[in-house]
Amino acid sequence: MDDTILIVGGGPTGLAAAHGVASVGRKAVLVDKADRLGGAPILSGYAKLVPSGEWAKDAIGRMVTRVASHPNVGVHTSTKVTALEGEAGDFRATLSNGETVAAGAVILATGFTHFDAINKPEWGFGSFPDVVTTTQVEQMVGAGKIACPSDGRTPERVAILLCVGSRDRQIGREWCSKICCTVSTNLAMEIKELSPETDVYIYYMDIRTFGLYEDKFYWTSQEEFGTKFVKARIAEVTIAPDGKRLLVKGEDTLVKRPIVIPFDLVVHAIGMDPNEDNPEIARVFGVGLEKHGFLERGEHYTSTFGSTRPGIYVGGSALAPEDIDSCIAHGLAMAMRAVGELQARSAQPA
Ligand SMILES: Cc1cc2nc3c(=O)[nH]c(=O)nc-3n(C[C@H](O)[C@H](O)[C@H](O)COP(=O)(O)OP(=O)(O)OC[C@H]3O[C@@H](n4cnc5c(N)ncnc54)[C@H](O)[C@@H]3O)c2cc1C
Ligand code: SF4
Repeated sequence: MDDTILIVGGGPTGLAAAHGVASVGRKAVLVDKADRLGGAPILSGYAKLVPSGEWAKDAIGRMVTRVASHPNVGVHTSTKVTALEGEAGDFRATLSNGETVAAGAVILATGFTHFDAINKPEWGFGSFPDVVTTTQVEQMVGAGKIACPSDGRTPERVAILLCVGSRDRQIGREWCSKICCTVSTNLAMEIKELSPETDVYIYYMDIRTFGLYEDKFYWTSQEEFGTKFVKARIAEVTIAPDGKRLLVKGEDTLVKRPIVIPFDLVVHAIGMDPNEDNPEIARVFGVGLEKHGFLERGEHYTSTFGSTRPGIYVGGSALAPEDIDSCIAHGLAMAMRAVGELQARSAQPA
């Protein structure tokens, strides 16, 4: 039996798992296909995280540093697992860099893929340069300037459209992405901090700033930063007759009237899709996918974060859209389960 634990994916979930394994004296091998650790918050350049308000590069950077500098963790970036043989307690993984790893358990923390807003063409992304995504606005906030990509002007009016690529059966996205309402209300405040003259409107079906986020983000954004919330169904985004501004067209669903409103910048609050690698991950690791394409859980209550294959655990946004706090908890729980099962196996008489 090998007591090394192989962790695939070095975002918040995998980093928490690796630290959990290493901190109880076990060896972890952490593999990520990207050239750096940190997952989406680092790779997509998020600005200040909710709920902490800390810059992503600092908060997640700290998680990366404590794992990368830990003597119990071996890190392979720009690497995938290409084959996995064996069984719980005795796996052998082949890595794309030519190495092999013997591991007693495997933790899958392979995360999600951002919804590609090009798949919602009627809302203008890909057709008009001033239709952007929340990840692009995160990067603008990180760079300290909110600007229209077409000509660099500071927008007078910004529309944030919620649920882009989520809660949309027409395009096969039946899930709520859980964090984008909160992220968008936070972005509205960050835009206002950088550009106090800019008016920010949020177009929503429902607001799902869950738990304590309702007060900290929804009400604060509205009452202290003047963010305007409009309950609407958006039909399309087109270019205004001046050839410069954008027109957001749809229906105000509270007063049941059509709306056509001009904006300088339109932001798509993109959702969290299943990782585009999931079919390959399911094949290589021999685990199941649930009906939307996220990785499948095993039994919920006594095999927490077990996958459909013994000895392989799955958690974080690989399972479903999740926020970072939950991902960290999943990572630590998977570390606990993997270490615990290996310990139980080694205690069994030969
Ligand atoms: C615009 C936006 C803003 C957000 N802001 C916040 C916020 O402020 N606060 C918050 O709590 N949450 C936020 N979230 C959610 C946050 O991004 C996720 O909760 C978090 O990134 C999930 O962590 P993870 O480790 O599960 O997955 P990921 O962050 O996706 O990390 C997965 C890792 O696995 C690697 N990987 C993938 N496939 C493979 C493979 N086949 N082989 C090897 N490696 C692989 C990837 O390279 C990546 O490093 C936001 C989401 C969006 C869309
Ligand atoms: S969190 Fe809000 S924006 Fe995101 S999918 Fe759910 S309801 Fe839509």
